[in-house]
Amino acid sequence: MIPSILPTYNRAPIAFSHGEGAWLSAEDGTRYLDFGAGIAVNALGHAHPELVAALTDQAGKLWHVSNLYQVPQQQRLADLLVEHTFADTAFFTNSGTEACELAVKMARKYWFEKGEGRSRIVAFEGSFHGRSSAGIAAAGSEKMTRGFGPLLPGFSHLRWGDHDALEAALDDDVAAVIVEPVQGEGGIRPMPDACLKGLRELCDRHGILMILDEVQCGMGRTGKLFAHEWAGIAPDIMMVAKGIGGGFPLGAVLATENAASGMGAGSHGSTYGGNPLACAVGVRVMEIMTAPDFLPAVRRRAADLRQALEGLVASHPDIFDHVRGSGLMLGLKCRVPAADFVKAGYSEHLLTVPAGDNVVRLLPPLTIGDDDLAEAVRRLDAAATALA
Ligand SMILES: *Cc1c(COP(=O)(O)O)cnc(C)c1O
Repeated sequence: MIPSILPTYNRAPIAFSHGEGAWLSAEDGTRYLDFGAGIAVNALGHAHPELVAALTDQAGKLWHVSNLYQVPQQQRLADLLVEHTFADTAFFTNSGTEACELAVKMARKYWFEKGEGRSRIVAFEGSFHGRSSAGIAAAGSEKMTRGFGPLLPGFSHLRWGDHDALEAALDDDVAAVIVEPVQGEGGIRPMPDACLKGLRELCDRHGILMILDEVQCGMGRTGKLFAHEWAGIAPDIMMVAKGIGGGFPLGAVLATENAASGMGAGSHGSTYGGNPLACAVGVRVMEIMTAPDFLPAVRRRAADLRQALEGLVASHPDIFDHVRGSGLMLGLKCRVPAADFVKAGYSEHLLTVPAGDNVVRLLPPLTIGDDDLAEAVRRLDAAATALA
């Protein structure tokens, strides 16, 4: 008999009842150290007092109002995003997938309004852009698309790291390129800064719009507010979600004035996107992350963790191959099945997340304390020892 929850997930047999900072408590009272953060969502940890206050304050006043009216919380969040990024404008969604939908629509509409028939979007193998029709067409993997055809047309895919194929594919009929500066689901694969720069130059040469998917790698995860800042480039369109709501469903598409020029009144919409509850939380997340000490502290923690993980890999050469990633978005490339290591972590009461390419993802809250970081490394070590 089919379970009452559609069985699309292989769930671990753990249920959590509450959380605090980097810790989650299971219903049986067991405490787990959370190195998954809801897949990079709980960027400020669980039950952050300022986010709880922002949400509950707003909940007592107004939950929902249509986008037919002014939404001051949404305005404030848009202003903050415009102030702190390349963007001139923002549209709010409830998820990363919806951000992908709009990014694709925006890019195609741009070319339509120019009177040029460009619609093709170039994406990369191993990418993840969500589970909608545009999202799975963009990712293109057999695993995500099998049985769901006919797929949304107009996407082509390039191998990660194949520069020659990239040069050949980017010509004057491509509408946009979509890429994650650090692939998340694909196995914590960063695109080197030089390659992101090169990609930006290729886009500029052919007038192609550059869409960055920073749903997982954005919002402070790599130690900059957005990962592309490390490469010193800026996209035309960017997808944001996960960390921006700190656990409340919220996403956004940010864009330059030029890239957004096709999107006039009536061209797109959302019932819930940009609602007062989500935006009140988003505003607080942005205020916390853009305070002067926040990102330097993330970079310091990231450097400590990276160093500890290099040591861990060196002392368990049969379990791990190498560490990779950026900031607090790190991956352990495994020599045993990554899923086995994640399970061994559960036994040590440590939560990690498997990814593609046999990688275990480490995505702690950006606010994690030094003691919790050290404790997590001890538990990773214990899990590796137990597996050996
Ligand atoms: C999670 C994710 C998405 C999809 O976001 P949802 O909120 O699950 O719809 C898109 N792109 C990337 C890079 C992601 O990590």
